[in-house]
Amino acid sequence: MTYSIEIRGVVQGVGFRPFIYNLAVSLNLVGYVSNDGFGVFIVVNSSKEKLDKLIKKIKDNKPPLSKIESIKSTQIQEQRFSEFKIKKSETHTKLSLEIPSDVGMCKECQDELEDKNNRRFGYPFITCVNCGPRFSIIKNLPYDRKYTSMANFIMCNKCQKEYENPSDRRYHAQPIGCFECGPKLSLFDSNSNILACGNEVDKVAELLACGNILAIKGIGGYHLVCDATNDKAVKLLRDRKQRVSKPFAVMVKDIDDAKNIATIGIVEEELLNSNKRPIVLLKKNDNSLSDFIAPNINQVGVFLAYTPLHHLILEKFKNPIVATSANISGEPLCTTKEEIMKLSHIWDYCLDNDRDIINSCDDSVVFVENDKTFMLRNARGYAPTYFKLDKKTDKKILCLGANQKSTVAIVIEDKVILSPYIGDLVTLSSVEHFKSHIETLKRIYNFEPDIVVCDKHPNYESTKYAKELKVQNKNIELIQVQHHYAHILATMGINNIKSKVLGVSFDGTGYGDDGNLWGGEFFICDTNSYERVGHFKEFRLLGAEKAIKEPRRVALSFLFEIYGEEVLKLKNNVTDSFSEQELNTLYIAWKKELNSPLSSSAGRLFDCVSSLLNVIQVCSYEGESGLLLESLYDVNVKNYYEFDIENGIIDFSKIVTQILNEKENKIAVSKFFNTLVEIIYGMWKIYNLPIVLSGGVFQNRVLLRLIMKRIPYAILAKDFVSNDSAIAYGQAVSIIN
Ligand code: ZN
Ligand code: ZN
Ligand code: FE
Repeated sequence: MTYSIEIRGVVQGVGFRPFIYNLAVSLNLVGYVSNDGFGVFIVVNSSKEKLDKLIKKIKDNKPPLSKIESIKSTQIQEQRFSEFKIKKSETHTKLSLEIPSDVGMCKECQDELEDKNNRRFGYPFITCVNCGPRFSIIKNLPYDRKYTSMANFIMCNKCQKEYENPSDRRYHAQPIGCFECGPKLSLFDSNSNILACGNEVDKVAELLACGNILAIKGIGGYHLVCDATNDKAVKLLRDRKQRVSKPFAVMVKDIDDAKNIATIGIVEEELLNSNKRPIVLLKKNDNSLSDFIAPNINQVGVFLAYTPLHHLILEKFKNPIVATSANISGEPLCTTKEEIMKLSHIWDYCLDNDRDIINSCDDSVVFVENDKTFMLRNARGYAPTYFKLDKKTDKKILCLGANQKSTVAIVIEDKVILSPYIGDLVTLSSVEHFKSHIETLKRIYNFEPDIVVCDKHPNYESTKYAKELKVQNKNIELIQVQHHYAHILATMGINNIKSKVLGVSFDGTGYGDDGNLWGGEFFICDTNSYERVGHFKEFRLLGAEKAIKEPRRVALSFLFEIYGEEVLKLKNNVTDSFSEQELNTLYIAWKKELNSPLSSSAGRLFDCVSSLLNVIQVCSYEGESGLLLESLYDVNVKNYYEFDIENGIIDFSKIVTQILNEKENKIAVSKFFNTLVEIIYGMWKIYNLPIVLSGGVFQNRVLLRLIMKRIPYAILAKDFVSNDSAIAYGQAVSIIN
């Protein structure tokens, strides 16, 4: 009897066909296996028993990078075969929905990299079917060398043999190459003078040791790199990049080196070692790292070398290195030589290579709290991310997300495909970059949207783009989803919750239905609708956008609320940070409600507290105040401030007056955290529904830890992001429910 077996999931570019080939041969089956746009397609002559055996073996022993979503077998018309074969890919109109993610170097490749007798000894681009670049080099599906940026490299005879041999672990490993035929390094200075010929890695180690800043091309973009133990070098990088205090990530060779600079738990160690190789936020040790890496913060982001090139560099250069995305603040990550040359005032030398990056992809960032993993940035190794929906749709849906930490999602049938982190849409080129990500998805998935979903904020670039699309094509249906509702839906979606819940969305700011800037919201909602049942009492954001960067403006607004004109005579941390004239101007603005929108944002409350306690008055990056407060939290402080919930409204100025009377910062900060937890707990007790937490504020580790303790069943964005990168997915959930 002849059967066809169709396997869907992540089954392309992961060594699935040779795996099937070897299985079939071991079971003495004849027929063939092929990749089509769908997934993997097998045709065999077999008895029913053997077929079942084959399917069981496929499920039990599948290749490490594969993910099987479904296996469907059907008896088809009898066919004749003399052997089992691997057939070439056929292009079908129906495309596979899954693009594989980039994968860190595997153990076997590392062994070869370090083996003097191997022909790829020291080859910086060694890969196999289980590791290496994927998403970042793919132009089109199916995943085949000719549709990747490896198409430019003609395989030498030796590589070709490996590529064609089903029992070789490089069989159909699309990115393979060697010294003879694969990508090559080049090292040059900012005037494009070539510095090395064949000994690039040695030279790079020398240059790092002398305190230079290097741009190094990685998987999904360039990094800016310097010696992480050298104060002068790190400071120089900060100055040149004009990055005052936002923490830098540190790359080390292996887990032992990581343990030298940070305290690492079991789950954290697993994440660091995983083939996704994310940046993991860890507790800093007293160590050799420069203080300029994460000033005044007790955490440090660490990741292990994930490409053979990084491995070679760190093997030579023994110290940990700063490895931060090469971009100007607000601009997209550099992926081409042309782009990195524009940053040549920042780096001294550039270690480049000639493998093109097709899709840019930042490093992913995660942290672990209570053995649960939370993501701050969903990108390399994880992206694109796929979510299954309960229902199928025949409409093609494009979800444009928010404006910060942008991601986009498309919905095809019952699947949401979420792009990697794109970045903030704050500059012209970042908006262009955002559009190019959408174009990539449209191209790969042959996709034209019937429905476009966006935020309600009229000034978000994503909203403007949605409206442009509607103008270009009148048939497109445009749907706008409230920001905080989308946040809650995202957390509900990943936890597969559809029932009525109490959704708590604590966030920076997002556009509310009443035109105010929401961000400290309590909703009773399900996947169909929401009702705003509570929020922080609105306060004025003095100077609007400016208030988001200057905690002192938020604190001052509360002081005006409480003391009115008297504030002009007060002397405290907040008033001291302004000149007399500034205070007068801001008072008039507050009184006359000039450029001072109302907001209920919980994120801004962290700013307010930071300013009152003089922890920080003006931020240099988003979320800075929250991070600084985390470092001041004292677990021994158990009490909290008095507060009222009146008809769901919480007036934070009551808490402000109590903080003003506090003597010690540690106590004030700890009580502030405890109070937020009690407020959430209080609301939960009122409604007694499953509680869902979402929004950027819940990335605060202290808050998260305390909540998990106080409300153990709280539903969180586990294994996912809770900041604005989640919005596009939440928007998708709102349409298909
Ligand atoms: Zn490998
Ligand atoms: Zn070769
Ligand atoms: Fe948000």
